[in-house]
Amino acid sequence: MEATVIQGTGTGANVSLRYSLVLPIYNEEQVLPRLVERIRLLIHQLDGETEAIFVDDGSRDGSVRYLRCVVAAEPRFRLIELSRNFGHQIAITAGMDAAQGDAVIVMDADLQDPPEVVLDLVAKWKEGFEIVYARRVKREGESLFKRFTASLFYRLLEKMTTVDIPRDVGDFRLVGAKALRTFRQMPEQDRFVRGMFGWMGFKQAAVPFERPARALGQTKYPFWKMVHLAAHAIVSFSERPLRLALWGGLAISALAVAFGAFAIYAWAFETGVVAGWTSTVMIVSLLCGINLFMTGVVGMYVGSIHAEVKRRPLYVIDRLTGFDRAMPAVPV
Ligand code: UDP
Ligand code: MG
Repeated sequence: MEATVIQGTGTGANVSLRYSLVLPIYNEEQVLPRLVERIRLLIHQLDGETEAIFVDDGSRDGSVRYLRCVVAAEPRFRLIELSRNFGHQIAITAGMDAAQGDAVIVMDADLQDPPEVVLDLVAKWKEGFEIVYARRVKREGESLFKRFTASLFYRLLEKMTTVDIPRDVGDFRLVGAKALRTFRQMPEQDRFVRGMFGWMGFKQAAVPFERPARALGQTKYPFWKMVHLAAHAIVSFSERPLRLALWGGLAISALAVAFGAFAIYAWAFETGVVAGWTSTVMIVSLLCGINLFMTGVVGMYVGSIHAEVKRRPLYVIDRLTGFDRAMPAVPV
């Protein structure tokens, strides 16, 4: 692990700075006590006033009960309880909407995004970068399969979109006030948060870190959920699949015309041509397959438009705790 330099000078070094930590939580009861302890430590190391916003994304275990107790006793903690499981990306959005800091830091709750790295993110932000993301240079405790599919996904996404979405970067990042304001102006339902930050531009920088294994508990991203995230990322940041449908369809039609011409030629000039059952079946099934695939691609975009036109709120809040307290250093 990279040396973690503690840059904060503790209490009151710079009262004008305010930080917000956003932590999405979904069934993390096992890791919460350790997380809370690490967050407290981090708050002491940061050189400004810090709030930690826990966003409960419809957990079914004891996470909420535990968080309510902790948040009630700690003036720097806040809790947003969503009415059900809305998904990681929406939970992040809810936390960012509520954040009051000059810099907002989003991090996973399972300690795979080590709190000490936040100090490095802050240092880079102070150099003048609006968005500072943490880049995974090494991933521990994740299966070869997960690392392979993740790397494949990032590379595919890079090829398919014109938006600059950095490789090997998750949602662990710091964003400044301007980026936060822009983010809040982006109402899209199909939210792939790292893509949205890539899209908005600004001066961006990366801080490398070694991603440790999940501290406790199980991943909340099973395979199908990863596929879902990947498909939505591509649909919301690339029109290539639609164009692929166009060009693919054209190319296949051209082939079909050529083949038809050949068939007519064979019928007219060759003798003993037997109608080929195999080739017919192959061509028909190939065309059916491609047709269905392309329909599916179009369907995904239509679905995305459908979600967008309904204009539903992105999330529903069931209960807020701790938001009535102003950030400690800020006069109300
Ligand atoms: N998470 C969430 N809602 C979900 C799934 C996950 O808020 O529907 C949270 C989860 O509690 C964790 C973060 O998102 O804080 C990342 O999830 P996880 O660590 O399971 O993903 P992985 O690191 O395995 O990709
Ligand atoms: Mg994790």
